[in-house]
Amino acid sequence: MTQYDYDLFVIGGGSGGVRAARLAGAMGKRVGLAEEYRMGGTCVIRGCVPKKLFVYASQFSEHFEDAPGYGWSVGETAFDWPTLIAAKDAEIARLEGLYRKGLEGNGVTIHETRAKLVSPHEVLLEATGETVTADQILVAVGGRPNLHDALPGHEYCISSNGAFHLEELPKAVIVEGGGYIAVEFANIFHGLGVDTTLVYRGQKILGGFDEDLRDHLQETMIAKGIKVVCHQILEKVEKRPDGRLDAHLSGGEAIAVDQIMLAIGRVPNTENLGMRHAGVELDVRGAIVVDNYSRTSVENIWAVGDVTNRMQLTPVAIHEAMCFLETAFKDNPTVPDYDTVATAVFSQPEIGTVGLTESAAAERYSELEVYRASFRPMHNILAGRDEKMLMKLIVDAESRIVVGAHVIGPGAGEMAQLLGISLKARCTKDVFDATMAVHPTAAEELVTMYAPTYRVRNGSRVD
Ligand code: NDP
Repeated sequence: MTQYDYDLFVIGGGSGGVRAARLAGAMGKRVGLAEEYRMGGTCVIRGCVPKKLFVYASQFSEHFEDAPGYGWSVGETAFDWPTLIAAKDAEIARLEGLYRKGLEGNGVTIHETRAKLVSPHEVLLEATGETVTADQILVAVGGRPNLHDALPGHEYCISSNGAFHLEELPKAVIVEGGGYIAVEFANIFHGLGVDTTLVYRGQKILGGFDEDLRDHLQETMIAKGIKVVCHQILEKVEKRPDGRLDAHLSGGEAIAVDQIMLAIGRVPNTENLGMRHAGVELDVRGAIVVDNYSRTSVENIWAVGDVTNRMQLTPVAIHEAMCFLETAFKDNPTVPDYDTVATAVFSQPEIGTVGLTESAAAERYSELEVYRASFRPMHNILAGRDEKMLMKLIVDAESRIVVGAHVIGPGAGEMAQLLGISLKARCTKDVFDATMAVHPTAAEELVTMYAPTYRVRNGSRVD
């Protein structure tokens, strides 16, 4: 191993890369890491973390609306976008510092540069022109928003990256897409008082999620005042002399807005990385092809996280990085476990979900019991808010195992984390029933739905 400068060289300082580098350093390996921008990657710098801070900021408008029901009179309120941006930037800088400290504390050499592969064991550091060598190389360069080159006027649009740095809050915005990012940002903008339109090409937002959650969220967003335009796409964007944008929709309508945010998926960051040059195979979308152990087509080159386009979630990238370490450095080949991954959508109301949707479960099991509760959470009663919460458990009738749990409403993301444990442990519905409720909470409903709401037999609902 000593013929190389490093035992491990990591390209990319995001969630996956940093975790792998830090733990390999802690094992006493000689580790180098190159990052061309800021340490922390999409999640910390321009994704999950700043997004969640924006979500918190946007929820205050409803808190103010709800306050009088509890006896509070709220005076005039005003929102200052630059204050939020500055506070968010300070927090991101703090977290970035922690990431850096964690690496340095474990002896990782950080190279602040773009890096590319020259050969299977050589990496070019572009800032200095230096070439370093490594026994093992991990590529964890993530992805970036699809900027929709085919859309005339796409250059006037922003992505989620731009939304974190807008100089001023737009008065009116269009968000295109129906996935996590579009839905989360449509709710953020709306909560901050922006006239918001979501344009989605499909029939209903959040494809792949349980139908009840999709219906519930879309209806609630519309009831809040978000315009949801389905079955349409943006066909053209034009910029007016005053800087406003005209969004031409496929249905013929033109909407004037201040900003248009595209959230139509993300693409892997593999251009100009020397991948093909080093013999690393890419798929048609440019994602790095890996085997079950995250090994690329080159024996000593590995890839984790969004650049491999498996499951684009921060905890998954971290898990893949830890499995990679087991395989490459601990003589313990470990395949990442993608089964029963809990996830949350920080829409308003938020979604927490784990396991199979009702329709996916119906394809897999001949008979299901579906437990479903819809109710006004206690907070909303005095607040005078009509919004309901929905919970659903999908149970394989034969084994009694809970195979899906879906929640929409306050705290759903937190609930999903805990439901994730129960479903991962393959708990039966009887275990849920035997679990004492925590009262008064919304989550107690998850252990007090004693009788199935309906059954699904051979794919068809039977009441
Ligand atoms: P998604 O893949 O979730 O959604 C993309 C959306 O864009 C879909 O609704 C898709 O429609 C639509 N779309 C795709 N291509 C076009 C097109 N050419 N024209 C119009 N619409 C189009 O991507 P996101 O960008 O929202 O998020 C990327 C990933 O990041 C997610 O998959 C998720 O894993 C991760 N993420 C996770 C979060 C969390 O855990 N809370 C938060 C944010 C992101 P259709 O449905 O018809 O395919």
